Amino acid sequence: MTGGSAPVPGPGILDIAPYVGGEAKAEGFDRPIRLASNESALGPSPEAVAAYQALAGEIHRYPDGSAAELREALGRHHGLDPARIVCGAGSDELIGLLLRAYAGVGGEVLYSRHGFLMYPIGARSVGATPIAVPERALTADVDGFLARVTERTRIVFIANPNNPTGTYLSADEMARLHAGLPSGVVLAIDAAYAEFVNRNDYEPGVSLIDRAENVVMLRTFSKIYALAGLRLGWAYCPLAIADVLNRIRGPFNVTAPALAAGVAAVEDLAALARARAHNDRWLPWLSERLAALGLELTPSVGNFVLPRFPDEPRHNADAAFAFLQSRGILTRQMGAYGLPQCLRITIGTGEEMEAVAAALAEFMAAA
Ligand code: PLP
Repeated sequence: MTGGSAPVPGPGILDIAPYVGGEAKAEGFDRPIRLASNESALGPSPEAVAAYQALAGEIHRYPDGSAAELREALGRHHGLDPARIVCGAGSDELIGLLLRAYAGVGGEVLYSRHGFLMYPIGARSVGATPIAVPERALTADVDGFLARVTERTRIVFIANPNNPTGTYLSADEMARLHAGLPSGVVLAIDAAYAEFVNRNDYEPGVSLIDRAENVVMLRTFSKIYALAGLRLGWAYCPLAIADVLNRIRGPFNVTAPALAAGVAAVEDLAALARARAHNDRWLPWLSERLAALGLELTPSVGNFVLPRFPDEPRHNADAAFAFLQSRGILTRQMGAYGLPQCLRITIGTGEEMEAVAAALAEFMAAA
């Protein structure tokens, strides 16, 4: 048959500006310094790599679709009920599943103005309307969120700590946000960077979930566990929400090597401690170096910093990005997040941090 009109995607889909990941290549450099995607500085646990490799002869088998072993391991490690854990192909998949389940055409999804981009992208993909809530000092504003809740609000997404700003909400502030939300609105706390935070007033969200029916915590193996290439994340939910996510996810949504590596990674407490200690050393080191160059910095509690560059064209963020790239150092431009004056720089190895600090000192000193 010929004639008729072309297929039309669902409402909102053509309004999506596709997500653009961090650069991985720099011309003329075989192994550029990759500080553009908040990946891990130290790489994965050797135990996780061994578990991944051990499955090479078994990839003709389907994975355990219930992810039982990984959920048990996560339950033991974090003191959680495995029945309330749902695993996904990265937390990106879980963000999408929550949106499919609870938002849709006519629904509104609130996120912080400089929040993680997958929230508005995912909201549009299900025909919902993303609402960007203004921030205070690059930090999510609880009163701003509460002021924008309407009867159409379906989900509130908060990355805590937030990417790309590196700021966080205290447990008390998060509880205040939750207390002000109608019980039918899902509060999705995306704690992708939780393991890096060393602040006494921070909590990734577990205690709220234990006493509420509408709170979900998202976690990932892509950051401190350094398994970004395997795509592994998990959600801790009230039982009813876990049940909903399990109904709509693909039956084998997480690969067998990812599940095996995840179990080994969770059990390798020494690797986790090394990664934490590394960040505790180099996050303040890089922050101080950049501040000493006169760059404005909001204190970050994640594994990245967000320096603001001068507006003057020779020293602005675009010029800094190009300069660093010419030295084989890849950082992230922030125009898509509405922060074109800033670059996001991931905490890498000690050598990488020294290289980026030295290059930026040279860049800022140039007339
Ligand atoms: N949530 C936040 C706040 C992130 O920064 C990222 C990745 O950068 C993700 C989720 C996605 O993580 P995953 O690799 O598990 O999909």
